[in-house]
Amino acid sequence: MAQDSLLSRFRGWLQTPAGKWVGIVAGLALLALAVCIFVYGPSGTDTEIERLRAGGRQVWVFCRNCEHGEQIRVGVDEAFPVICPRCGQKQAVQGYRCRSCKRIFELPAARRFACPYCNTPHGAG
Ligand SMILES: [Zn+2]
Ligand SMILES: [Zn+2]
Repeated sequence: MAQDSLLSRFRGWLQTPAGKWVGIVAGLALLALAVCIFVYGPSGTDTEIERLRAGGRQVWVFCRNCEHGEQIRVGVDEAFPVICPRCGQKQAVQGYRCRSCKRIFELPAARRFACPYCNTPHGAG
């Protein structure tokens, strides 16, 4: 069998000093590759999206009916307003919790806005 003789020749070559070095380098490269895969994982983005899609997302909501604010879990595809956990009316819109006074108000459409209670500025940019 030609393959057997090729294999035994390869094995014999691995016993030579040059072959040993190549074997060590190849082994280290494989080890490094394995460590990389272990550390960074198999591109986690897709599974992360799947997880979020399955579990929904935690959002602050503010009820226009009873002015109740609460952090609830809503489905990714769920549209606002959602049902208020306090009064049961479908009046809960996306809310925002002020980092300063911790009160919850309706998230304004503007990117920059001030807390209606304590006037602390919020928003990106
Ligand atoms: Zn309510
Ligand atoms: Zn505030």
